[in-house]
Amino acid sequence: MQLVCPWHKASFSAETGRLIEPPALDPLARYPVEIHDGRVLVGKVAIKRDAPEPKQADQTVALIGAGAAAIAAAVTLREEGYAGRILLIGPEKELPYDRTALSKMTLGNPDPGATPPALRPEAWYREQRIERVIDRVVKLDVETRKLTLESGSELNPDHVLLATGAGARSIDIPGVELSGVHTLRSAEDARAIIATVSENTSVVVIGAGFIGMEAAAALRKRGAGVTVLSKSELPFQAQLGRDVGVEMRSLHESKGVAFVPFCSAKAIKGAERVESVTLDDGSEIKADLVLIGIGAQPVVDYLPGHLVSENGGVEVDDAMRVAPQIYAAGDIASVLHDGERYRIEHWRTAQSQACIAARAMLGLTPGTLSTPWFWTQQYDRKIEHLGWPRKFAQVNIDGDPKRFDFTARYLAEDGKIVGIAAAGRPKEMCEAAVTFDDA
Ligand SMILES: Cc1cc2nc3c(=O)[nH]c(=O)nc-3n(C[C@H](O)[C@H](O)[C@H](O)COP(=O)(O)OP(=O)(O)OC[C@H]3O[C@@H](n4cnc5c(N)ncnc54)[C@H](O)[C@@H]3O)c2cc1C
Repeated sequence: MQLVCPWHKASFSAETGRLIEPPALDPLARYPVEIHDGRVLVGKVAIKRDAPEPKQADQTVALIGAGAAAIAAAVTLREEGYAGRILLIGPEKELPYDRTALSKMTLGNPDPGATPPALRPEAWYREQRIERVIDRVVKLDVETRKLTLESGSELNPDHVLLATGAGARSIDIPGVELSGVHTLRSAEDARAIIATVSENTSVVVIGAGFIGMEAAAALRKRGAGVTVLSKSELPFQAQLGRDVGVEMRSLHESKGVAFVPFCSAKAIKGAERVESVTLDDGSEIKADLVLIGIGAQPVVDYLPGHLVSENGGVEVDDAMRVAPQIYAAGDIASVLHDGERYRIEHWRTAQSQACIAARAMLGLTPGTLSTPWFWTQQYDRKIEHLGWPRKFAQVNIDGDPKRFDFTARYLAEDGKIVGIAAAGRPKEMCEAAVTFDDA
């Protein structure tokens, strides 16, 4: 039996408290329980967990990247008894943080110095002997696993996890280099946006994807005027269907967002910094700040070309293995499901993949990848989705999308359910998170 967290679908063994699925990073504490005369008595002191057998004390693991996947791998390695060195390599000076909070909490926070929550406190890195290497990998030699860093130093780890995630995609139009044009991927990006946004700022968001629409909601909270440019009529129609798209668009419009459908940006204009955006029909929209939200592409520039697959990622096997003692997890990993290769850009999936890779490094049973799950939070509305990114032919809705109280089931041509989305239905989604499988 599993206990599933209704918020982000972390799951735990109900018997032992063991962590089964991220995004939680810790197991649940267990307390002694006795039943006396029909009363359940719970002890005050948690039961001590048995430490696992120490493993591979003479080895070194290099985690390339300091994001969702890398931290989950570090946690799993220690949890499973890995006793060797762990090098966590990433360019950010700040502690690894919750990237998903950038567009939900950080941008909307009235505190100009707001930062996303750290994934683990500073002391944890000391206690767990995780060596942070503030640097960037510029080359990996697959045969020898030698890593070359931007600083010029070289490392020779025994095991490598490629977890460099994705970078924000830019747009190839005139004016994109002007000051005031932003993308949102890092805490630094969020700080740069916050520094220039006030109640008098006119923001144009190019793209109506999840990050663009979450950022639109957050920037409205700060009082900025927001216009969203969308190639399609509705946001999220491809992923969540028309009915949900209609409600998401009207939610934003009810909060004062101007949603411009069926358009694309042709140019960004301004003398020194951005002043307006020109659309493909020739019209111009005033802009003090432009946020480009048109998706992300995997960061693979340090890898030899033969490792990069058609979808821009790195192909892995069921244990997330790329080559002997080299693994990949997160946004760059291209996994095989039901005969198709997928790159999944979800927080929980990145962590699940990293847990599998970490166990494989230790020669343990790696486990199987759970069905991808993501959530989005816009204003006070949360929608969650479970499923691989597959095409659907029909959507069956139970409940009322207008009130954000519904379950939507996505059916393929052959009638098979290939995805489930819901709002306000935590119990149903918790059950689906454990039982749903479209294969
Ligand atoms: C604003 C925003 C909101 C999001 N919201 C959601 C959400 O609500 N739900 C959801 O499921 N997903 C969301 N995502 C997606 C989610 O954050 C990613 O899928 C997840 O972070 C991927 O994890 P990762 O470990 O692969 O990469 P990342 O977390 O991006 O970490 C990659 C790390 O690698 C480092 N790096 C890059 N190149 C190098 C190099 N050459 N050498 C060393 N280090 C390098 C980077 O600096 C970074 O530290 C959001 C993403 C963004 C940007």
